[in-house]
Amino acid sequence: MKDGLLVNALNEQMNFEFYSAHVYLAMAAYCSGESLDGFANFFLVQAEEERFHAMKIYKFLNDRDHRATLAALPQPKNEYTSMLDAFEHAFAHEQQNTKKFYHLADLALDEREHATIYFLKWFIDEQVEEEALFSNIIAKLKRIETDSNAFYMLDAEFAGRSFTPPAE
Ligand code: MG
Repeated sequence: MKDGLLVNALNEQMNFEFYSAHVYLAMAAYCSGESLDGFANFFLVQAEEERFHAMKIYKFLNDRDHRATLAALPQPKNEYTSMLDAFEHAFAHEQQNTKKFYHLADLALDEREHATIYFLKWFIDEQVEEEALFSNIIAKLKRIETDSNAFYMLDAEFAGRSFTPPAE
């Protein structure tokens, strides 16, 4: 693989994956601030996944005798208005990431760089999973918004209620 557009784009994608980890770590911090430790854990795990993606590209560049070049990361968004807001941003972020991988795959196809084409296939499959994951959680959160937990608890309480004849 020659130096050029494709190598530059792979480096850019590696940095974008590190940025993604940063974005999700900021979401985890937001959730911790709201005392939602389970949601915080979800995003901490997501951040670890993104770092793994970045390192996968880092290793690929090294294996192909290229230098991984680290860049400064943009500041991630630190404030959200709700869990739904955070997940909607996460979903949009993943959609943007999918577009970046399609662009990378187009470059690899143009250069007939088959090793890179196959390497990118893993990420493109992964993006299908990521988008499905976030879109699914958004649907669940929207349902909870209209039928809150409190509503379901009250519903269950009422279901167990029976008529007790007054004592004589
Ligand atoms: Mg990723």
